[in-house]
Amino acid sequence: MAHRYRLDPEPAAESMLVRHCSDARFVWNLALEQANSRRPGRGPTPGAAARMRQLAEARRHSWLGEGSSSVQQQALRDFDQALKNWWAGTHRRPRWRKAGRDEGFCVRDVTVVKLNRKWATVFVPKCGPVRFRLSRPLPAEHGMARITLDRAGRWHVSFAAPQPPVVRVEGGAAVGIDRGVATTIATSDGQMLRIPSAPKLQAKLGRLHRRLARQQPGSGRRAKTKAEIGRTHARITDRRNDWIEKTTTALIRDHDVIVLEDLATKNMVRRPHPKPDPDAPGAFLPNGAAAKAGLNRVIQWSCWGRFERRLTDKATASGVTVMFVDPRHSSQTCPACDHVAPENRESQAVFRCVRCGHCAHADTNAATIILARGLRLAPAPGQGAFARVSPTAASAAGTTRRTAA
Ligand SMILES: [Zn+2]
Repeated sequence: MAHRYRLDPEPAAESMLVRHCSDARFVWNLALEQANSRRPGRGPTPGAAARMRQLAEARRHSWLGEGSSSVQQQALRDFDQALKNWWAGTHRRPRWRKAGRDEGFCVRDVTVVKLNRKWATVFVPKCGPVRFRLSRPLPAEHGMARITLDRAGRWHVSFAAPQPPVVRVEGGAAVGIDRGVATTIATSDGQMLRIPSAPKLQAKLGRLHRRLARQQPGSGRRAKTKAEIGRTHARITDRRNDWIEKTTTALIRDHDVIVLEDLATKNMVRRPHPKPDPDAPGAFLPNGAAAKAGLNRVIQWSCWGRFERRLTDKATASGVTVMFVDPRHSSQTCPACDHVAPENRESQAVFRCVRCGHCAHADTNAATIILARGLRLAPAPGQGAFARVSPTAASAAGTTRRTAA
């Protein structure tokens, strides 16, 4: 994780920061194009050292030379690291950086000076010291700083720092968590938590997008609308992230063992396959794409992936065990008699076992089943019952990702 602070650049420094962002983006996109355009017979893609030499050459003959060499070199190093991460399978393929969306650059071996209790400065090449607000303690070491501009026009500086542990008292409590659409998080002890929806901000976004569509490309009014869209998105995202931080901290504080379903959220938001019409070549039958798109939107809105990542980060730092179990039929299984049937789930909210009549809230019931599956796995780790221990588990001590066979 990273410690992030609001950066407060002077106007002159800000224009230089914008310049660094565009340089870093340009160098990154150039390296990506080079890597993407590899064709048989055209020789190998240049390696990291060759790319560095090409950058030095380009700096002698182009406008790149006026920018900061260390920012540009760091962009290349970032790209090499991104390629390595992609090959290692831990990250997705490096993507194009788009102006206005992915604005940022890195500064290596950064110098940070604390001015007083509230302010510190970070040294940026060709800008000098730029001050930032000390909203939390500085990490002990800050080797690399990343400076970013978000879509709401806010500058931030962030330093890599270990996740601080959550202050907690061990009580031996275990909890199962069911992630859903109607209720974002249902726990086995009966809590129903919903990520904040923002209907007013969503409506505002709709209005702004309609206004944007009517405005002249390149006009000042259009730019204003775009900035307002960015700020609105940022407000929604901030609200959801705040909810995720508070919810995960509370869960870690109150439990020693947390059991989640092993969800491949990425696969869950895929589009349905098109259904060709056998009677009319070139035509297609309804495949439920619109309904799936709506569900996908809710799944993405729920930020299950981010929730899981933050929960495991905090668990690892705080000595809490997070387990992942097979999610199949968790909403159809009766905790009283183990009967599995789709009819058990009477409606979205009600679970009623058709065999023994056990009745509960459907989401709480699923969370209870998930907890039971986790506890069944818990006593004998690493034995026959575990079909898979994912590589992420090995790297994150204290966090176990297991799936029942
Ligand atoms: Zn039953």
